[in-house]
Amino acid sequence: MQAKKSRGSLFIVSAPSGAGKTTLCTNVLSFMPDLHFSVSYTTRQTRPGEINDRDYTFISREDFKSMTEKGEFVEWAEVHGELYGTSRDRIETLMDSGRDVILDIDTQGALQIKEQYREGIYIFVLPPSFGVLKTRLEKRMTDSREEINKRLRTALSEINTYAQYDYVIINDIFEDALKELASIIIAQRVSVKKINPLWIQESFSNQEEK
Ligand code: 5GP
Repeated sequence: MQAKKSRGSLFIVSAPSGAGKTTLCTNVLSFMPDLHFSVSYTTRQTRPGEINDRDYTFISREDFKSMTEKGEFVEWAEVHGELYGTSRDRIETLMDSGRDVILDIDTQGALQIKEQYREGIYIFVLPPSFGVLKTRLEKRMTDSREEINKRLRTALSEINTYAQYDYVIINDIFEDALKELASIIIAQRVSVKKINPLWIQESFSNQEEK
């Protein structure tokens, strides 16, 4: 019996830090079946509450370098002075098993992925305004003043890449933004491109003769 759907889809979610994309991704993952988060590798320090291999796989710079040399990352980038990378093996294994994959990565990484996965769905999350972004970063308290200013500068250049994405979600009212993200995923799942033509053939062709 043929599978109804073809390979899983790749959803790439980017945003300047403080736009709320990680919370959006975590929430959508909590109720959407067959949607998986691709855990990235990073050289940055673990933050309170983070768990290795759930939030990130935390590795040394040497190990990261050796993985890049072996071509194990589908993309990697330096973000705020630390290295982050997406494992090719992790995403391919998930998609091959028919699962949809969500990547929470920065704009440099998203643009690298786009060169290799044109069929991916690129989603940009924006804060409602620059002022809101600033307040959200200040409230986080986990980052120092210097770190916050660095992230705000990066945010402005990241926002300039929005037109490279397929969808823009403005995260003002969280529930609305979450519905928008879920809707994009659902729409992709029912896209004609996702249906396996062999399944249609097997299920509906020549059925009257049986
Ligand atoms: P944070 O350190 O705050 O968790 O993440 C900092 C930034 O790195 C965020 O924009 C996050 O989306 C991005 N990031 C996380 N994982 C990856 C990855 O594998 N590749 C790239 N390019 N960026 C990542």
